[in-house]
Amino acid sequence: MTVIKNQTNVLKNYINGQWVESNGTNTLEVPNPATGEVLATVPVSSKEDVDQAVQAASEAFRTWKNTPVPKRARILFKFHTLLSDHHDELAKLIVQENGKAFKEAHGEVQRGIECVEFAAGAPTLMMGETLSGIAEDIDSEMFRYPLGVIGGITPFNFPMMVPLWMFPLAVACGNTFVLKPSERTPMLANRLAELFTQAGAPAGVLNVVHGAHDVVNGLLDHEDVKAISFVGSQPVAKYVYERAAANGKRVQALSGAKNHHIVMPDADVAKAVTHIVASAYGSAGQRCMACSAVVVVGDGEAFVRELKTRADELIIGNGLDDEVLLTPVIRDSHRSKVLDYIEKGVEEGASLIRDGRKEMDEMQDGNFLGPTIFDHVTPEMIIAKEEIFAPVISMLRAEDLDEGLEYIRKSRYGNGATIYTKDAKAVRKFREEADAGMLGINVGVPATMAFFPFSGWKDSFYGDLHVNGKDGVNFFTRKKMITSRYDF
Ligand code: NAD
Repeated sequence: MTVIKNQTNVLKNYINGQWVESNGTNTLEVPNPATGEVLATVPVSSKEDVDQAVQAASEAFRTWKNTPVPKRARILFKFHTLLSDHHDELAKLIVQENGKAFKEAHGEVQRGIECVEFAAGAPTLMMGETLSGIAEDIDSEMFRYPLGVIGGITPFNFPMMVPLWMFPLAVACGNTFVLKPSERTPMLANRLAELFTQAGAPAGVLNVVHGAHDVVNGLLDHEDVKAISFVGSQPVAKYVYERAAANGKRVQALSGAKNHHIVMPDADVAKAVTHIVASAYGSAGQRCMACSAVVVVGDGEAFVRELKTRADELIIGNGLDDEVLLTPVIRDSHRSKVLDYIEKGVEEGASLIRDGRKEMDEMQDGNFLGPTIFDHVTPEMIIAKEEIFAPVISMLRAEDLDEGLEYIRKSRYGNGATIYTKDAKAVRKFREEADAGMLGINVGVPATMAFFPFSGWKDSFYGDLHVNGKDGVNFFTRKKMITSRYDF
């Protein structure tokens, strides 16, 4: 087991390069979702803690914004090396606090490292634009500048990747950062702060304040916080977007999802099932890009039979065991909500062709739930419309691709969608008409890489500029225009 300094008892906040105790009076336990073992205790920090962190970040900003861009990039290169050196350790820590399988956690660390790789390109990314001769003897130039202090609020399901979507690029662009990690997976954030400091980040450039909504509100309302980057569930994303925007801040708020996977009659059944099983059941379905609604076009009986067989064969257990694919959900309270959805699906008349509740009884220690499949779900049902965020597939039937596309169009969410087919015409139609921002063609988890925007649509995103890629650079910088006359 990884032993993390300063995390054994109540976790500390990281403010101005120091590990400091929170002023908050409440704490929460951080149990391992697979075993129930308490890994740490997290403070529910106060507004006062936020104020201290923002003050430290504001002071650090005065010098950090003037630190030459290549020098900032060099710290990111060092951070990149340290993260790679600690790849296994970080992945194990993710398994412990989040519960996902080691292989998934290893992939998550890799995805995080790629964000640092992208941010280390700051000297190129931060370049402006010029045009000589906008009028006679007059030129125009655009320079990019950082905004100031950025607040980052992150979810439990990617404790490494999501913070790394945010602070490396923000800091590379010359901003300073206050991170509020999920109170359900807070340990990794402290390890990231340690490694970032080891890489040479000056005090106050990255601060971590643990806690829940008081910390979030403290960031949303603080006048020295210039932008908010949020990732989490839909109601909270909307709330964060509205409150931060009302306070004049720039906001990007990434939200919930219901991702449809269309299985066309010509799809390779074995391959489609492999991708759907990995997408729907990997990380216990707790991914914003997880397949949660399958749309079977045509008869589909061979596909449905194979999906059920493969679900029956899944190995369920602790993510540290190599062969395990299906791991526990984050908390027992979350599992209770999922059980309510299963009840609701039965009441609404969907056919429960695989009931994951039976494995729950066999595995008492962690928050386990077996793979669950509803067939003959209709688009009006709650289990078709809402994000369940668990190993539950809602399967809808469609006569043709048009009907499948209509289901996607009707969904309030638009994060991802996938089609399984070899038919070029169907692929093109899907690409042109699917009403979602990240599409997969025979790809189970079409999550974008760090150099492209993570591009959710509809209620899966509130704001204009997405995280990562050029959108991320634009989000974390403001532009200054210079118009110069030379015949003076
Ligand atoms: P969550 O909304 O419960 O929590 C996210 C953050 O918001 C946490 O830091 C939490 O402390 C804070 N928070 C929670 N309730 C709050 C409140 N009432 N007021 C202020 N702050 C509050 O989300 P979660 O359960 O940790 O994460 C899972 C959700 O995140 C899913 O809906 C998933 O789809 C979404 N997600 C989306 C993306 C994406 O790219 N769109 C990526 C990852 C996760």
